[in-house]
Amino acid sequence: MITKIYRDLNPSPRLLLGPGPSTIHPRVLRAMAAPALGYLDPEFLALLDETVSLLRAVFQTQNEVTLPISGTGSAGMEAALCNFIEPGDRALVCVNGFFGQRMADMAGRYGAQVSQLEKPWGEVFTAAEIEAALQEQDYKLVALVQAETSTGALQPMERIGQIVHRQGALLVLDCVTSLGGAPVKVDEWEVDVAYSSSQKCLGCASGLAPLTVSPRGMAALKGRQSQVANWYLDLNGLLKYWGPERAYHHTVSCALIYGLRESLRLIIEEGLEARFARHRANAEQLWRGLEELDLTLQVPLAHRLPTLTTVRAPAGVDEGEVRARLRDEYNIEIAGGFGPLKGLIWRIGLMGFSSRRENVTLLLAALKEILAG
Ligand code: PLP
Repeated sequence: MITKIYRDLNPSPRLLLGPGPSTIHPRVLRAMAAPALGYLDPEFLALLDETVSLLRAVFQTQNEVTLPISGTGSAGMEAALCNFIEPGDRALVCVNGFFGQRMADMAGRYGAQVSQLEKPWGEVFTAAEIEAALQEQDYKLVALVQAETSTGALQPMERIGQIVHRQGALLVLDCVTSLGGAPVKVDEWEVDVAYSSSQKCLGCASGLAPLTVSPRGMAALKGRQSQVANWYLDLNGLLKYWGPERAYHHTVSCALIYGLRESLRLIIEEGLEARFARHRANAEQLWRGLEELDLTLQVPLAHRLPTLTTVRAPAGVDEGEVRARLRDEYNIEIAGGFGPLKGLIWRIGLMGFSSRRENVTLLLAALKEILAG
C-alpha cells in the first residue's frame, strides 16, 4: 500500500531544443486538456475527419489512406513495414544512421530478406546509387530516412520515387524529423508510404504517428498472400475504424487527437512555405552563431537538416557535462550523439514551437558562457 503523498506535479520549464520532443505550443496544450469524447461520438468522428484532411495537406498528398497511428514514430515505422512485407520479400533499406538501421532491423523481423545499402553516418544517398542497387536485384520495397536525426543529414528526394517505381518496388519514407519543418512532398516525390511522429516539427505531445499510403501501396496490401504479422498495426483492421464503417478497433486517444488537430491547424494557419522558411532562417542563425563560437558543424551545408543541427564538441570538452549544465543552469535540453558519434557531437533541434529566434539567441549565449569556463 502506498502511504506517501507525492508532491504536486511541477516539472521544470525546460526549453526543449533536442531531437524531440519539442516544446508544445500553448494552444496544443490547451486543446489536449479539453473534455474527452467517446471514440464513436459523432462530434469526435467529425474531428477525426478534420485531422485527416489537415494531415493530407501537411503531407502534401491526396492519398485517401492517411491517418495518425496510435503510438510514437517507431509505431509509424512498424506500420509502414509490417503491412507491405511478407516473409521472403526482398527489401532494400538505405542505412546512413541509427534510424535506417532500425528500419532494417524491423523489416527483418517481418521476414524480409533485407539488403542494406550503406553509407557512412552523416552522408546521403544519390539517386544513381539507389538506381544501381535496384539494377542488381529486384526488390518489393525500398526504405529511406528523409531526415536522419542521428546525424543531421537531409536526404535529397529528387528522382528516387521514379527509379523505385520503374523497378516495380514500393518507396517507404521516414519523415519523423521533417514533417511540419521541412518540405515533405508525398505525391510529387511518388512516395508510397510515409510516416512521421507528433512530437517533433508538428509540435504536439508524443504518442501519434501520422501515416499516409498511396493507391499503389494499398494495392500491394490487398494483394498480400499472408496475413499482416502485427494485429494492432494491420491497416485492414485500422481502416475499419478510420474508414466509413467506423467500427471499433482500439480506443484512440482523444487528448492526442485534440492536440494533433490543433498543431496541424497551427501549421496551416502559418502556411507550409512560411513555416519551412522560419525553420530554415532560425537554423541558419544557429549555424552562424555556432561557427562564431569556433564550433564545427558536422554536416556539409548542401545536405544539412534545418530542423536538427549536429555540431562537434570541441576537443577536451566533456560534451555530457555541457549538456548537464545547459539543463541544470539554463533549463535548456539538447542531446548528445549516438553510435559512432557518441561523445563527439551535440544534437540541437529547432522544431515546431521550439524553432524561434529568441531560443537560438538564448542557447548561443548559454553555450558561450559555459564554454568560456
Ligand atoms: N525515425 C526517426 C528519423 C527518428 O528521429 C525517430 C525518433 O527520434 C524515430 C524514427 C522513432 O520515433 P519515436 O522515438 O517517436 O518512436
